[in-house]
Amino acid sequence: MRIVLLGAPGSGKGTQGKQLSEKYHIPQISTGDLLRAAVAAGSPLGVRAKEAMDDGHLVSDDIVLGMIEERLAQPDAKDGFILDGFPRNTPQAQALDILLAKIGKPLQVSLLMDVDLDLLMQRLTGRRTCESCSRVFNVYTSPSKFEGRCDDCGGNLRHRTDDKEQTIENRLKVYQAQTAPLVKYYGEQDKLKTVDAIGEIADIFSRICELLDAVHEEELLKAKGVPADVEAITAAVTEKLSEVRGGKAAKKTASSEKKAVKKKAVKKKK
Ligand SMILES: [Zn+2]
Repeated sequence: MRIVLLGAPGSGKGTQGKQLSEKYHIPQISTGDLLRAAVAAGSPLGVRAKEAMDDGHLVSDDIVLGMIEERLAQPDAKDGFILDGFPRNTPQAQALDILLAKIGKPLQVSLLMDVDLDLLMQRLTGRRTCESCSRVFNVYTSPSKFEGRCDDCGGNLRHRTDDKEQTIENRLKVYQAQTAPLVKYYGEQDKLKTVDAIGEIADIFSRICELLDAVHEEELLKAKGVPADVEAITAAVTEKLSEVRGGKAAKKTASSEKKAVKKKAVKKKK
């Protein structure tokens, strides 16, 4: 199965990706990890990536795509992959599609881990901390009685974010701006599957499996060279044969039987 994971920072992508990797026996490929490994190993692409980073530039899409291509050529990726961290925007998604078409491994599913971004943003941007007693309020979810004043001590409330919060806030803003079009992109290709990513990890995982199992089964049948409705045809023929053998069925010509079976199969397809 060939999957791209989409989701905001903090949506649990990494955790779910790991479990999916174990269930379907396909590697979870994080582009962040790929990059670090390539730089550490000093591979040709790693050297180019390091040069870019040392110059204070972003690593170009070409380099990342090159690393993905090398990674997908490894034996453990023969049955598929879970891409995590790439693509992050529409041009990257288009470039990825071109690469995957070239190596004959087109994407099947883009799985969106859906969390309420507005809520995540409100949690961060709405935070107010009392300068005197450090009590924390939130203008959206738990406001003080009087704006800008602490309920406990009457102190001034400040919007104070530490570096880590600031980083998350920035990443969320970037995600919102760049990934929304990506959702549209995969939606138009009919590859988008959205899972409610709020709640217990195990519950979210079973919701994901519900979505992916159907895709996986279809793929297994295809891999065996069995079109999905051959099973139905076989079952119908077996049933008829046992009727005939039991002498219950009225005499029918083989061709009319075949026709009936064909009709059933065509109906199923629709
Ligand atoms: Zn206070």
